[in-house]
Amino acid sequence: MTKYDNLINGEWVSFGNYNDNVNPSDTNDVIGSYSYGDADSVAHAVEAAQAARDSWANSTPQARHDLLDAVGNALAARSSEFGALLAREEGKTLAEGVGETMRASQVFKFFAGEALRVAGELQTSVRPDIDVEITREPVGIVGLITPWNFPIAIPAWKIAPALAYGNCVILKPADLTPACAHVIATLLHENGCPAGVFNLVMGRGSTVGEAIVTHPDIDAISFTGSVGTGHHIAEVCGKMQKKVQLEMGGKNPMVVLDDADLSVAVSACLNGTFFSTGQRCTASSRLIVQEGIHDAFVAELSKQMQALKVGDARDPDTQIGPVVDEKQLKSNLEYIELARKEAGEVIGGERLELDAPGFYQAPALFLGTDNSMRINREEIFGPCGSVLKVADLEEAISVANDTDFGLSAGICTTSLKSARTFKRRAEAGMVMVNLPTAGVDYHVPFGGRKGSSFGPREQGRYAVEFYTTVKTSYVFAG
Ligand code: NDP
Repeated sequence: MTKYDNLINGEWVSFGNYNDNVNPSDTNDVIGSYSYGDADSVAHAVEAAQAARDSWANSTPQARHDLLDAVGNALAARSSEFGALLAREEGKTLAEGVGETMRASQVFKFFAGEALRVAGELQTSVRPDIDVEITREPVGIVGLITPWNFPIAIPAWKIAPALAYGNCVILKPADLTPACAHVIATLLHENGCPAGVFNLVMGRGSTVGEAIVTHPDIDAISFTGSVGTGHHIAEVCGKMQKKVQLEMGGKNPMVVLDDADLSVAVSACLNGTFFSTGQRCTASSRLIVQEGIHDAFVAELSKQMQALKVGDARDPDTQIGPVVDEKQLKSNLEYIELARKEAGEVIGGERLELDAPGFYQAPALFLGTDNSMRINREEIFGPCGSVLKVADLEEAISVANDTDFGLSAGICTTSLKSARTFKRRAEAGMVMVNLPTAGVDYHVPFGGRKGSSFGPREQGRYAVEFYTTVKTSYVFAG
C-alpha cells in the first residue's frame, strides 16, 4: 500500500495516522493510505507560510506566472492519468474525470496570465500636488477548505488565484478525496514552488479544518461545502475579523416552458440533474414544467433517465458513476423514501448491487411534487430530480425563486421575451438559457446569492476581490 504524506515547508511530512482512501466503485480497491494531521500540523504549516510570505508577496509576476503555467501544463499533459485517479477516488465517470482535470489545467493557466495583469489606479487628488494611488496587495496566508465533489477543480480554482496574487496557502482537502489534492501539491512542488508558499495538510474537518479556521495567523478562509459547516465558519471568521468566502449548497430550478424545444430541454435536464451522479452544487434539482409540455417532457426524460448506464466509474461505457460513499447513499435513499410519501410518484431510485461492492443508485425522478415538500426545499446532492407542474411563466418564476438558495437557475424556451424576463428576475448568481444549470466557464465569475454563497465571487478576474486587499496611497511630491 502506497503511503502519502503532507507538504509543509517544501518537505513531505508524515504525521503517522494513515487513513485508507477507498474507491466508491469497488470498496475492495484501496487507492492509498494518507497521513492525517491535527492542530499542531496546521500550526507547523502556518509557521512555514509566515516565513515565506514576504518573499512570495514580493516575488515577480513572472515567477508566479511561470509556476502556475508549468502546473497547468503538467495537468494537461497527464490528464488521462489524473482523470482516471479522480474517477477511482470520487466516482465520476472517466470522461468527467479527464474533463475536470483539464478544467484544473485551464484554471492554472488562466491565473498564470492574471498574475501578469495585477493593475492599480492612479487618481487625481482633490487637494493640490498630491497623487492618489490605489493598489492591490496579497491578503497574506489563506486557508482553503475544499469538498469531495470536484476534488481537483475546486482546489485548483482556489489555489491558482491565491498564488497568482502573492498569497501563501494552507490547503485542507476533503477527507474522502485527498489523492487529487496530493497530485496538485506534488506538481507545485516538482515545478519549483518555494518552500512554505503552498502547504498541504490532510485530515478531518473537525480537527485540521477547525484549526485552520481558528488559527489567528491565517488571514482569510475560502470554503466550499455544506451550509452547516459554512455557517459555522462564517461565525468564527466574523468574530476573528477574517476575510471569508463561502460557496455552499443549491436547490437549482430549471424551468421548461410550453414553447421549449423538447429535445433541448430533456438533454439539459438529463445532464443537469443526473450527470456527475447529481453531486454538483449547480445540479438541476427542481424541474419546473409548464402544463402543456409536462406529459411529453416527463415521458421523454424518464425514458432517457432509465436508459442511463450506472456502473463502475472506470468503465468507459458508464454514464453515471457511484455515489461518493455509504453515508451520502444512505442520505439519498432516505430522501427517496420521503419522496415516496410526499410525491405523487417516484421513478427509479433503487440501490443497485453490481459485480463489485460499491455505492450504486439508480437515478430517481419525483413526479407530482410541490414546492413546499422537503424534497424540494433541502439539497439532496444525489441523482434525484423533482418535477413541479406550473401554469405559466409567472408561476414558474415565483416557484423558482421560492427557495433559501440562489446559485444557478435555468430556463428552456424558444421565446426571447420569456428568456429575457427570466434572466432578469431569477434570484440566482448564474442563469442558463437552454443549457443545464451545471457546467460553467472558468474565466468568468462563479457564485450565488441568498443561502448559496457569501463573500466575493470565485473564478475569472473577479477572484482578485477575495485574494487581494486594496491600499490607497497619497503622495505629496513637495
Ligand atoms: P462539509 O461541509 O462537511 O465538508 C466540506 C469541507 O469542510 C471538507 O473538507 C470538510 O472536511 C470540511 N469541514 C468539515 N467540518 C469542518 C469544520 N468544523 N471546520 C472546518 N472545515 C470543516 O460537507 P460534506 O463533504 O460532508 O458534504 C455534506 C453535504 O454538503 C453534501 O451532502 C452536500 O449537500 C453539501 N456539499 C455541497 C457542496 C457544494 O459544492 N456546494 C460540495 C460538497 C458538499 P472533511 O471532509 O474531513 O469532513
